[in-house]
Amino acid sequence: MLKLRGKVQARDTNKSQSHLVHVTRNVHLPAVMRRNTALFLKGAELSLLNDEWAASLRNATPFAGLLLCGSDEELTVTEQVISGLPDVYLLPEEYFYLEDGDIVRLSPKGERISILFRKNSPSNSIMLTERCNNFCLMCSQPPKRTNDDWLLDEAYDLLRMIPQNTTNIGFTGGEPTLCGKRFIELVEAARLNLPDTALDVLTNGRAFKNGAFAAQLARVRHPNLQLGIPLYSDDPVRHDYVVQTQGAFDETIHGILNLKRYGVRVEIRVVVHQQTLPRLVQTCEFIARNLLFVDHVALMGLEITGFTRTNLDLLWADPHTYRDKLSEAIEVLRTHGMHCSVYNHQLCLVNKDVESVCRKAISDWKNEYLPQCDGCTRKSECGGFFSTQVLYRHSKHVQPFQINAQNHH
Ligand code: SF4
Repeated sequence: MLKLRGKVQARDTNKSQSHLVHVTRNVHLPAVMRRNTALFLKGAELSLLNDEWAASLRNATPFAGLLLCGSDEELTVTEQVISGLPDVYLLPEEYFYLEDGDIVRLSPKGERISILFRKNSPSNSIMLTERCNNFCLMCSQPPKRTNDDWLLDEAYDLLRMIPQNTTNIGFTGGEPTLCGKRFIELVEAARLNLPDTALDVLTNGRAFKNGAFAAQLARVRHPNLQLGIPLYSDDPVRHDYVVQTQGAFDETIHGILNLKRYGVRVEIRVVVHQQTLPRLVQTCEFIARNLLFVDHVALMGLEITGFTRTNLDLLWADPHTYRDKLSEAIEVLRTHGMHCSVYNHQLCLVNKDVESVCRKAISDWKNEYLPQCDGCTRKSECGGFFSTQVLYRHSKHVQPFQINAQNHH
């Protein structure tokens, strides 16, 4: 798993506030572009840092920061040379992956770095708030009650900095719609700044029970917007139990109906675990009967992070044991002509009839494989595991496909 944030050592910082900067590997970046750009040097490149070069840096227009990344030994060697250079950050080797065009937050006071956008990643999400009005058993990002409006201000800055040729970005939380009007404004800012970039929003959908709010979102006319909304059961009591909030089911269903009334694209997401499995097929029947007009339905595997780790025994189900039920659920959706997918499930743990809807959906920075996957002939097709599944719990039935695939499974 890539490390996206953490402690670093900051030296001689001129700024007191956190700020966003682009990363560059170009030592010769024109002076005019350096104000919001940090120069990133790593590993063997640190040997470039001789006295002469440090002197030239001191005399030239400064970068917004100098990010030096390497082993303890490599960083120690630079100590002498960098003394007197402003805004230097010493990064452990875990940040070796940083690239030209990435965007990071530098927090000089707290001596922290956060990687907010990776240019070469297909899965960049912007967190709008850590607050939430659900309290899901398997929440991967346990909510906080603090006022974090600064995240919204930062999101505006990010939207201005992200390159226009970015294929897609996400808005996530917490619950992004708790930001109310500012959420709508931010979707508008995304349309204006990144007109060709698809926008996926993860929301519990409850705020759209208010038809006027759904209409406001539709009026933004974002050309490529989709809301991912979780629904955990056809039974309101079970859904409310999973999200630990009474009345949530009704509000979510109302929200979905309103969104579709105004023509907003909606994907329904069902996380498959012990608490949703008993009614998985009925849930899909409910969706097919009552919400046939949604744009996509995703049946998703469990990420073992946040509350899921605490509640693991209540939630964990081995995909091998529910493979037939997964097939049945997909068959219901297919029969009704619904566009559906299975996310976060491994190819060797699903039945053949489900393979064609299995997508590689795990964000690249938390996607891993088991050692035995190395010998699997279908590894390139398979979405693999969440790093946390590799670490904490995964099926005992993972079995690599062999060359003679016909005899396998
Ligand atoms: S062995 Fe690994 S790579 Fe192959 S299908 Fe199973 S999980 Fe995927």
